[in-house]
Amino acid sequence: MIKELKILSGHGRQFIKDLRKQPVSERFRGLPVITDDLEEKEIREAVALCPVNAIDSRSGAIDLGNCAFCNECALLLPGKIKFTNDYRIASNKREDLLIRPGHTGPLRIDETVVREDVRRLFKKALKLREVSAGGDNSCEMELAATGNVNFDFGRYGIEFVASPRHADGIVITGPVTSNMARALEICYDAVPSPKIIILAGSDAISGGIFEGSPALDRSFISNHHIDLYLPGNPVHPLTFINGVMDLLGH
Ligand code: SF4
Repeated sequence: MIKELKILSGHGRQFIKDLRKQPVSERFRGLPVITDDLEEKEIREAVALCPVNAIDSRSGAIDLGNCAFCNECALLLPGKIKFTNDYRIASNKREDLLIRPGHTGPLRIDETVVREDVRRLFKKALKLREVSAGGDNSCEMELAATGNVNFDFGRYGIEFVASPRHADGIVITGPVTSNMARALEICYDAVPSPKIIILAGSDAISGGIFEGSPALDRSFISNHHIDLYLPGNPVHPLTFINGVMDLLGH
């Protein structure tokens, strides 16, 4: 018994105590900061460099719903574009993912558009079905990590389940390929109402690097109300956790 206790104590505390304030590496690329003195030539060069058309050609604003977080624009314009390690970049409004030059504040969800039934019904327990709609397994791995011993998101009653029949909503990853469009619709229909939809990762939010491809069918995204957008390429577990906690009002 003493031996076992010593082993346990040697392991230390493995879970993250405060999921809201957990520091991450300075090298992590989260919320960008863009100075408001971008010149036209600089914007043109950044737009030409960006692999996913995430930079607005008029203002130089970065759309986090498209961004691959490759850091190329920041390397091109050091001192003007910088990616901070702020991982709280979730939003419940698509347009709020556009980070404009001069934006300094944190990115938070808009409380006024959160559906009343979401907080009333799901605050104490939320079960989610993950649908990989043409994903590359990167976001899927990060979402799986939210339930591991470090993040232990299950402590808030928030977990992934195997069947849509047992779920309160779906989390979509991947750009939604034509092959997955019908399966996604069937899965969503199998979730009892009321239900929520979360888009995890830039591919799910905009199509990412596949945006505009004829191999995609994103009609499901345009035909349904999206409750939460989680940027990232892939999305960080703490982005997912903090975004869902914000949505549920924790
Ligand atoms: S970090 Fe984002 S905005 Fe900048 S070049 Fe890469 S994809 Fe484009």
